[in-house]
Amino acid sequence: MVMAVFRRLNFRFNPVFRFVLSLTLLNLLSAPAGQCQEESTFALHVGTLLKKAGESPLKDQTVLIEGGLIASILPGFHTFDDNPALEIIDLRQAFVMPGLIDTHVHLSTDHRPESTLSVVKSSSAELAIIVARNAESILMAGFTTVMDLGNGWRQHEQAVYAVRDAISQGALPGPEILAAGSPIAAHGFARTGRFNDAVEFAGGPEGTCQGPESCRYQVLEQLYRGADFINVYPTGSLLQQPSPQQTLTNDELSAIAETADLAGVKVIADGGNSPVGAAGINRAIEYGFDIIDTVTFPDNATFRLLNRNDGYFAPHVYALEAAVGDTPETLEKGSMGWLPRSILEQLYALKQQTPSALVGYREKSKLILASDSGVFPHGDNGNELLAYSKLGITPADTLAAATINAATAFGIEARTGHIAPGLEADLVAFRESPLENMGIVAHPELVISDGRIFYMGKH
Ligand SMILES: [Zn+2]
Repeated sequence: MVMAVFRRLNFRFNPVFRFVLSLTLLNLLSAPAGQCQEESTFALHVGTLLKKAGESPLKDQTVLIEGGLIASILPGFHTFDDNPALEIIDLRQAFVMPGLIDTHVHLSTDHRPESTLSVVKSSSAELAIIVARNAESILMAGFTTVMDLGNGWRQHEQAVYAVRDAISQGALPGPEILAAGSPIAAHGFARTGRFNDAVEFAGGPEGTCQGPESCRYQVLEQLYRGADFINVYPTGSLLQQPSPQQTLTNDELSAIAETADLAGVKVIADGGNSPVGAAGINRAIEYGFDIIDTVTFPDNATFRLLNRNDGYFAPHVYALEAAVGDTPETLEKGSMGWLPRSILEQLYALKQQTPSALVGYREKSKLILASDSGVFPHGDNGNELLAYSKLGITPADTLAAATINAATAFGIEARTGHIAPGLEADLVAFRESPLENMGIVAHPELVISDGRIFYMGKH
């Protein structure tokens, strides 16, 4: 795209700017599948630039983007007089920060009860369309990277990998996707049943193992099929009764951690859901799991072990808020109101407790943002940042959880999670600073993912 005129247009109100960006989006959507969409070269004039969460934002900066990467960051508003054709996007009224990262989404499902069966009945091709649609919704919410945690279905694996690859080739709009494939679980604890045995028997679950060698094989199998990291269920689930505190043996957990480590991929313990104890999650930390996820019931040792091992904690705050109503009379009013009454009551009781996110934060554990979207509509992922704020987690720590911490936890901080020359051009612009008004994160104005520009027409 060639812009012959140096433009100083306010992107919020100017219809020409909207039109130009619509054309950019149209170009993206019309790119033939599998063909790499060439990223354009352009510059941003940024009023307030947060290069890395935790640092002080800089005033009046110019960011040059070339070939999908950040080429340079210059103080002041450079006019590039030697290159009059260069497109310059006016963000002088905006706050620009690294693109958000959500480390826990379920791209092929949503919160509606019929979604439970659709993942079984649908072909991988049909699910791929759902995954692509959900991925685009999350991108439009300001998220340029997401981690799909899987659900134990082969069709889901295939759909997510296909969409992941299409997005990375520029053939579809969406955030970069890192995918777990199917979670590794003990027999009977793969969480695929969803209160319907017919669902469990219909073709799943993938990824279950018995014994260290079998678990080692399942890790390698997931990686062979295309997983970017490994997700493990070391305990029971909130959606299952009873929910044991440990479902994989010590030897199995050790074998999983060792295999992932040898393969050079991160491994997540997604559990800690037993009111009886936290053995499963604590053993996982001791064996070297990189991230603990969910952990509704930590014990006194959990965060001490995690901090000692330099691990990360990915709690879900908004998902519980959204899933169930706020009073015993309105339990069914939440996004998961179709769940059995006994589960809703358990979730409601949890809602009255101090969230483990806050316990971990007070223990100075490193938090990473993990919304669990799919429990609530995809695209509402920014509500997780608002939920952090409501708990009293500082805006700076909230933004770090959603950017640099998440990138570092997954070992991709050399590519994304902050804004620096050489990194992928993953940025989001807001009308005001989320450091002063976190509510604005639900209303991004502009998202740039791998140097491709997307405008938020709906806000
Ligand atoms: Zn989940």
